[in-house]
Amino acid sequence: MPVAATASDVWTERRRRVGELRARQGFARQLLDFYGALLAVQERAFDDAAANRPAAEDLASYVTDIVVPSVLDVSLALGPERMRSELIHRIETEHPRAIVLRWIDGGEQPAVDRFLARAALGPVLEALGADARRVCAGPRDELHCPDCGGLPQLSYFDPGPEDLATGPRRLLCSRCSATWGFARMTCPGCGEDRSAKLSIFSEHGTTSGEQGSVVRGLQRGVPPMDHGAIFPHVRIEACESCRHYLLSIDVASDPKAVPVVDELAAIPLDLYARDRGFTKITPNLMGF
Ligand SMILES: [Zn+2]
Ligand SMILES: [Zn+2]
Repeated sequence: MPVAATASDVWTERRRRVGELRARQGFARQLLDFYGALLAVQERAFDDAAANRPAAEDLASYVTDIVVPSVLDVSLALGPERMRSELIHRIETEHPRAIVLRWIDGGEQPAVDRFLARAALGPVLEALGADARRVCAGPRDELHCPDCGGLPQLSYFDPGPEDLATGPRRLLCSRCSATWGFARMTCPGCGEDRSAKLSIFSEHGTTSGEQGSVVRGLQRGVPPMDHGAIFPHVRIEACESCRHYLLSIDVASDPKAVPVVDELAAIPLDLYARDRGFTKITPNLMGF
């Protein structure tokens, strides 16, 4: 069964952006190559799930049988060495279905388990929509995904109507990729909205909170760029109250940006936030 053109476009856009950032951000090339290969597996999983429509109660078994083997193949071929050895160990000691079920139930699990379950289940939830996402555990409040109860991976701003200003702020779910509207200048980790407690770090400078610090994107051996900022459209939104942060992508200022891809590749900003003692609300698919 063919999938709707809009659904296919999502994957085309992600692939396009991987190619662009791969050329522009050499420091993230290895990660982007791995992610690009995973995208092929995820797109196939998305198409299969859209055609097969597995029942919500069969989700974990379906994902374990149909998607996990391909995610494992790609990860063992192209993933970072440490991930490869951890994956082999986990598959020998735990049934993948238990790993996927725990992710659905929102339980604590090692990073490598989260990666495997998320990479395999994510595109299936994305394809099936709200009904299937309801089986996932998690609070349904403004700090969590209204569809699946997952934590927000990132914040983004779409272009506003007629490009006069930036549009409303949205958060993107780390588990099912649903998005929901969220107030500006409010922490998606704890709901803090006192501006003195909220800091924004970007390559351009800092607003509120701590004064005078500027991310140069040059931390940890990232080479200087000849053509200005590497992440003019990405900023760190950090909260002094809960000490969490997430990255925010301004698609209005870079219309080619694809938030989920740009967020993955902005590693120097993650390192910068970490150096300042902040923890991401939830790590992204690649563990940053
Ligand atoms: Zn969700
Ligand atoms: Zn907070």
